[in-house]
Amino acid sequence: MKLDGLNVVFSIIGTGRCNCRCDYCHFYGRYPRETVRFDIEPDLFNRYVHLIKHVQGKASRVSCRFSGGEPLVMGNRLFMLSDKVHAETGIEPFVLTNGLLLDDEVIEEAGRHHVSSFVASVENPLHSENSLVSYERIVSLYRRHSSSKARVRFGMMVVRNDQFSRMKEIVDMFWSDCGAIPPMCEVNYGLFESPSKDQLNDLRRSVSDIVREYHGRCPLHLFPYVIPDLYPSNKRSQEIIIELPLVDKLGLMGMDDDAACSVLEERLDRSYFVYECDKECAWKEGCGRLKWLWNKPNRDGTSRIDDYCRLRRTLCEAYAEGLGIDIGASCSSERPSKPDFPTNDPAMPIQRQADGQHCPLDRDLPSPANLLLRCSCPFANSAIIGLTGAESRPSYS
Ligand code: SF4
Ligand code: SF4
Repeated sequence: MKLDGLNVVFSIIGTGRCNCRCDYCHFYGRYPRETVRFDIEPDLFNRYVHLIKHVQGKASRVSCRFSGGEPLVMGNRLFMLSDKVHAETGIEPFVLTNGLLLDDEVIEEAGRHHVSSFVASVENPLHSENSLVSYERIVSLYRRHSSSKARVRFGMMVVRNDQFSRMKEIVDMFWSDCGAIPPMCEVNYGLFESPSKDQLNDLRRSVSDIVREYHGRCPLHLFPYVIPDLYPSNKRSQEIIIELPLVDKLGLMGMDDDAACSVLEERLDRSYFVYECDKECAWKEGCGRLKWLWNKPNRDGTSRIDDYCRLRRTLCEAYAEGLGIDIGASCSSERPSKPDFPTNDPAMPIQRQADGQHCPLDRDLPSPANLLLRCSCPFANSAIIGLTGAESRPSYS
């Protein structure tokens, strides 16, 4: 996969330290905690920034985030790194955080150092016994800072298989408390568990109920690892995440920029592998390139790609069901008129509000969004508005 023309998010691992012990943590699944208790070396960080600047001349869009570990344990050094990224590239980075150290003072200081936003983890409020950051605290931060200079956004909420049946309750709770819905995903990476038939039925019911009630009111980001094609990741602006590790395990320090880009491109081919499914299926287009995590066997030795397929079909059908769209229905060649864009929703991306005349329906969206598009149905239009928008897209790795 070539970097040229892509929408690239560089994820710089600024530190291996963290003040939480999440049981689903995949970072410490890959790097034992005691071996990474340090922050990034200045020389390596500077090399990364230089490389990011170089990629700006190739990719169609480049953004940058700090991850870890927990970036906020770095204190003011994090803000110095943000200043450096901004000074060299003009990019305002965002920060993935567990939220434990996030408060009004930190957020205000971050705004002075070109941090565009904090993407704060949210735990399932119905299953939060082990959560260090309470639901109330994170929602309160969101309410106060969803439009600050360094704004607070919701990070990915992990929903366990046995909680699929309660997703609508969770969504209702968020909507009533702060008028926004966090992105949600399955437990993944090393802790992935194959969902049972009943759990898939629960998932289908919940997602179709959520879509039926909330599409067009709020951007919905449900299970983006399984259906990334509901986002505007069309062929011209596919968003991909490139992780820049805490130590120079890619050997980028001793390379020129072009050689370093070749290394990144090789890694991309492994991170987003080509998958050729031989089945006839409505949801095929989005299955052409999959994230590496679906290429792993499950702990019991079964194929995870089969689970991906079951989840994908369930979720895509649930979306269509929630939208009231019969995928088998004939489609009109006539495009419906451009819909109105809601502008009073704080969760809506600013760019889209300012750019209200640009219709995402003009994009060459892949399936299943394309299927929804082709249906001459204003109902589907507003749904697509709720489901797309690069600026509103959550960040996941
Ligand atoms: S906050 Fe993030 S890095 Fe820290 S333990 Fe939890 S998942 Fe892992
Ligand atoms: S959803 Fe499943 S059957 Fe359909 S194209 Fe993807 S992998 Fe194949």
